Amino acid sequence: MSDSRGVGEAGFEPPGGPSAHDGGDRFHEECGIVGIHGHPEAANLAYLALYSMQHRGQESAGIVSSRGDALIAHRGLGLVADIFDPDIIHRMVGSAAIGHNRYATHGETVLKNAQPLVVEYSGGALAIAHNGNLVNANGLRERLESAGSIFQSTSDTEVVIHLIAQSRAGTLVGRLVEALSQVRGAYSLVVLSRDELIAVRDPHGLRPLVLGRTKDTWVAVSETCALDLIGAEYVREVEPGEIVVIGPMGLQSHRVPGPTEPRHCVFEYVYFARPDSRVFGRTVYQVRRELGRQLARESHVDADLVVPVPDSGVPAALGYAEQAGIAYEMGLIRNHYVGRTFIEPTDSIRHFGVRVKLNAMPELLDGKRVIVVDDSLVRGTTSKKIVAMIRAAGAREVHMRISSPPTISPCYYGIDTPTRGELIAANHSVEEIRSFIEADTLAYLSEGGLFAFDPPRRETFCGACFTGSYPVAVDGEVEPRQLKLFDASASRG
Ligand code: AMP
Repeated sequence: MSDSRGVGEAGFEPPGGPSAHDGGDRFHEECGIVGIHGHPEAANLAYLALYSMQHRGQESAGIVSSRGDALIAHRGLGLVADIFDPDIIHRMVGSAAIGHNRYATHGETVLKNAQPLVVEYSGGALAIAHNGNLVNANGLRERLESAGSIFQSTSDTEVVIHLIAQSRAGTLVGRLVEALSQVRGAYSLVVLSRDELIAVRDPHGLRPLVLGRTKDTWVAVSETCALDLIGAEYVREVEPGEIVVIGPMGLQSHRVPGPTEPRHCVFEYVYFARPDSRVFGRTVYQVRRELGRQLARESHVDADLVVPVPDSGVPAALGYAEQAGIAYEMGLIRNHYVGRTFIEPTDSIRHFGVRVKLNAMPELLDGKRVIVVDDSLVRGTTSKKIVAMIRAAGAREVHMRISSPPTISPCYYGIDTPTRGELIAANHSVEEIRSFIEADTLAYLSEGGLFAFDPPRRETFCGACFTGSYPVAVDGEVEPRQLKLFDASASRG
């Protein structure tokens, strides 16, 4: 349901529902964002961009367009194609728009957290979409609430809105600068006012955000696969710590206060981004293939076949097979109409999901010594099922190879990882994990091997999920409730 009264539609529930303070929702989100400026069908382009970035979040999506005198919003639960239809897009007039795909949990609380968030404050109507997580949102929220702010969602993003509204700066960008000087963590943002689109990346550039252009239209998107779909040319990344303002004055660049220290999320390469996207200056497919080659150099084993766990294991398996000189076969076939099993809400569904998602081919595997390549091993439940499935298809030996190091630490910057207690590698040796998944051998990529695709830029990446070393402090002493919230919420199913 759309609405053209200054600020959008259903979705903002009145205060009083579950809040961040009772752990009623979680801040862990995997998201894709888009901003369009200067196109008569801005909402339609935003829709296409979200469609191409569906992998970054499947639980809710939303678009807000600006027709100059008002913002028009439509958000819903589910996949982009289910939420929008031609009539809705047609009603979303205006030459600028932003959009958001989100994954999070807790069904009943989701719609009010669906983004873009839209508000009307003293400076006018404003919409904001966020990819990443703020690590000091709870402390800021407490401070804002004690000063009288009333929160309408449990999203960390709303903190930024309140900080913008409180600022006394004379311009929106001034208010934003003031707000961002107070938040810590990961944020790639697109902000829409009646006449401006603003694209922002945190000073570490943890999550991706790039600029593209087609004729008079500027585009800001999480991944370049969206630029390809809408026919925009890649221009450059929004730099870490940069605030790009696109409005009546053209494009202007401002800075988030404080030092800039790039720490790009290496997991975007390992698993999260689409292989055809260019992320942090490199094509994801090529990095994944190189991770596979490196894995083969580090952990060779005699075998007859290399088999990927589709889809995310495919480029690494190709690289592995190429480097090892072993035949590559699609011994596992994926049903593409099943969501990513990892992000289903309960254990029972997750286990079921692995079975419905993948099928092994005895015609290829029977009697063979098989190397199975997957991008990551998180809880271990997927690998265990896959090994059993490949053995049941007749394989003589099953050697599991993982094209990233052991996942030992949760991500607090926007990738959905379980709590430390659920991360099998946080509490078990490689040999224990091998025994649990019942593989003949198990090998992970080394930490050095993970960054072998670009050793000089090692320091510009965040690999906290593999190293436990967090570039932005997530300090239990400083933010005890935030950590508690993360852990309580992440431990669902
Ligand atoms: P697990 O059963 O927890 O070990 O799941 C590992 C599988 O989940 C691998 O095949 C990965 O491709 C996939 N995976 C890893 N991280 C994520 C994530 N953050 N969201 C969704 N799927 C993931």
